Amino acid sequence: MSATRVLVLNSGSSSVKYQLLDMRDGSRPAQGLVERIGEQSSRLKHTPLGGEARERTGPIADHDAALKAVADELAKDGLGLDSPELAAIGHRVVHGGKTFTEPTVIDETVLAEIERLIPVAPLHNPANLTGIRTAMALRPDLPQVAVFDTAFHTTMPESAARYAIDVETADAHRVRRYGFHGTSHAYVSRATAQLLGKAPEEVNVIVLHLGNGASASAVRGGRCVDTSMGLTPLEGLVMGTRSGDLDPAVIFHLMRVGKMSTDEIDTLLNKKSGLIGLCGDNDMREIRRRIDEGDEQAKLAFDIYIHRLKKYIGAYYAVLGRVDAIAFTAGVGENAAPVREAAVAGLEELGLLLDPELNAVRADEARLISRANSRVTIAVVPTDEELEIATQTYALAGDN
Ligand code: ADP
Repeated sequence: MSATRVLVLNSGSSSVKYQLLDMRDGSRPAQGLVERIGEQSSRLKHTPLGGEARERTGPIADHDAALKAVADELAKDGLGLDSPELAAIGHRVVHGGKTFTEPTVIDETVLAEIERLIPVAPLHNPANLTGIRTAMALRPDLPQVAVFDTAFHTTMPESAARYAIDVETADAHRVRRYGFHGTSHAYVSRATAQLLGKAPEEVNVIVLHLGNGASASAVRGGRCVDTSMGLTPLEGLVMGTRSGDLDPAVIFHLMRVGKMSTDEIDTLLNKKSGLIGLCGDNDMREIRRRIDEGDEQAKLAFDIYIHRLKKYIGAYYAVLGRVDAIAFTAGVGENAAPVREAAVAGLEELGLLLDPELNAVRADEARLISRANSRVTIAVVPTDEELEIATQTYALAGDN
């Protein structure tokens, strides 16, 4: 029996999301998540392909226990971690710094480097590491591959990757623009080229990944040349709970005049800003519902969100010089027609002509939403980070 399956693990600080993919036929034999790890009310939800979802609630103490519980659920469906069909485990790792430009088979040196990057990714890399170590302990013989959120952006030129601050200070503390959501930007830019019937090398694409976290990227001929997130995922677009771009002096002001601590400001900008800070809701569905009822605060939050988005479309248009397509993806980008409409409204002179009827269609597939005579193609391209991680993992570690 050949090993054709890849288990994709995305370990967050209090959660583990997983999907088992079969690279032979593209099926997904099982998927699920464990949330609220470390609390009394932990929950595991496991969905086998074509079967009923199974739920388990009750304390799951740590990532070790969580992964063992996942392994138990998989085993019940005959998909256990000891299955000879399992080829490799692919781990999403948030920060790969400048070091990791590609998916990498994990060994002790790689683990040490991911650990060295903790100061620039204090929220994410420790959880990713715990997930990797636990999985390695369960299957020490199996190839485990790290797929980095930052890797796709390592092709950015220095002119886009550097902040205009003192070079020595920046280098001493590894302060530069790394970018995130890279797996999604890579997948979506490629899928967009495919939708146009072209090779990735032939097209220039602006990818707008609009989820709860949100980022834009400018991709020239398949390579990222700029992206909106920076040292951390805080920079750039207005997001569900993050401010995105602001004058850095806002922080000094809040410290000096507002007497706020570093941690308080960190929480304010990452968790209590963006849409939720502006109007109390971070779900675009709820914001649209409130706007329909005449809610002014929700309308202003929407307008600020769109204004920033439009600025990035314009900026990346200028960076690329020639744009073949703009692709909307992730929860908001794939589902919120009013966001797509507002984002490109008034950009006809730039060659963007939206077809309102196509834009209103709801579908799961990648699709065009621009008019036939639009110089720039506008598309909705659903992202699939798990598939991208599995594909990269299998290419590196599958027995092919
Ligand atoms: P993340 O992976 O960053 O948590 P997602 O890509 O799943 O986020 O996007 C989640 C967001 O997508 C929600 O917060 C919500 O704003 C938005 N969303 C999901 N479904 C819809 C919908 N049908 N209409 C509008 N917005 C939606």
